[in-house]
Amino acid sequence: MRAEILSIGTELLLGQITDTNAVYLSQRLAELGIPLFFRDTVGDNHQRLRDTLRLAKSRAELIICTGGLGPTQDDITAEDIAAVFDAPLEMREDARVVVEAFFRARGREVTEKQLKQAMLPKGAIVLPNPNGTAPGFILEKDGVIAVAMPGPPHEMEPMWRDGVTPYLRARSGYTIVSRTLRFCGIGEAALETLLEDVINAQTNPTVAPYAKLAEVHIRVTARASSKDEAAALITPVEAAIRERAGQYVYGTDEQTLEEVVGLLMRERGLTLAVAESCTGGGLGARLTNIPGSSDYFLGGVISYSNELKMTLLGVPKATLVAHGAVSEPTARAMAAGVTAATGADVGVSITGIAGPGGGTAEKPVGLVYIGLAQKGQEPRAYRYTMFGNRTAIRQRAAQEALVMLHHALTGQEVSPW
Ligand code: AMP
Ligand code: MG
Repeated sequence: MRAEILSIGTELLLGQITDTNAVYLSQRLAELGIPLFFRDTVGDNHQRLRDTLRLAKSRAELIICTGGLGPTQDDITAEDIAAVFDAPLEMREDARVVVEAFFRARGREVTEKQLKQAMLPKGAIVLPNPNGTAPGFILEKDGVIAVAMPGPPHEMEPMWRDGVTPYLRARSGYTIVSRTLRFCGIGEAALETLLEDVINAQTNPTVAPYAKLAEVHIRVTARASSKDEAAALITPVEAAIRERAGQYVYGTDEQTLEEVVGLLMRERGLTLAVAESCTGGGLGARLTNIPGSSDYFLGGVISYSNELKMTLLGVPKATLVAHGAVSEPTARAMAAGVTAATGADVGVSITGIAGPGGGTAEKPVGLVYIGLAQKGQEPRAYRYTMFGNRTAIRQRAAQEALVMLHHALTGQEVSPW
């Protein structure tokens, strides 16, 4: 089954929004083992949308459309699919009830305009939309499956997951199960080398590395006639991966580094505080992404100026004068200072040059020190050289601080690379 994605919306062509839906769908199709040959972007225009649909219909068996399903004039997807597939629009009771219920639940009357969203091509299967008003649909005709989903990602993604994926799986007669192992403290190339024999031996399951920001994911994907059978295929491959590189695994599947760090903090009954300079709160934001983080995260200081580094964190003036704000001794003093100020068991600090200006030959843009203070231990700091623009450096610095924290909590050596 060859697939084609149609992203529909003039704002996409104007560059006002990024087509994240196409990226999301491409990844999901790859996981399902469905080959994707074309991705098209088309504006809210009947003629061009119909032309594109006809072209897609001539060369794909699965056409996945996102966008243009709403109640306004420029929402034309259902109408044009109806025309190209010769499946006239009709008011669908099952869809109308859903649109009405959405408004009633919010104490509002349904207008004619809103009811337009319940007009679907004849013979289509309705895809419920728990997160918005426009239902999606699947139309299978002339040996081609057309899927239409709304544009907002928070509506489209659950619809794809809960409505479309089971449909495609049922048709294909097999199921796909993936397991993601998440690694930190090792780069993609080094990890690939460790796993070379496992990666080379792959057929089913497949083993695919994905480099992320200062972490690497390995996705193991098996195809089988049942979930249990697929899981049984994955188990030995996961074991082989862990045997070779298990010390770098921090989590699995959807687990994030801040979540795992939080689990470790809670498990050990420790509290944490942060002192951030160049990340401006980015590390605190990551840590507080996790519900319940108040159990272990006390808070932090955004000590952007030297003044605040001295007054709030007790960094000695002499240290700043002799070594500068971006230096190992300053990072150490910041970590120790925030621990003393808050009474936390663990203190983490970040100070660096995020650029684009402010770099020198000796201290270039991307130079970052991350400090760590733990009760009963000498404070330490580590030197990192990071690449990319300001945003990338700041994100990476927060990520590396979490990696460091993870390693410190699990008793592993911290080795910046
Ligand atoms: P629409 O369903 O065409 O009315 O789109 C409504 C909103 O969904 C747009 O204004 C965007 O914010 C978002 N959206 C639409 N298409 C995409 C896409 N391909 N990728 C990401 N967001 C999208
Ligand atoms: Mg639109």
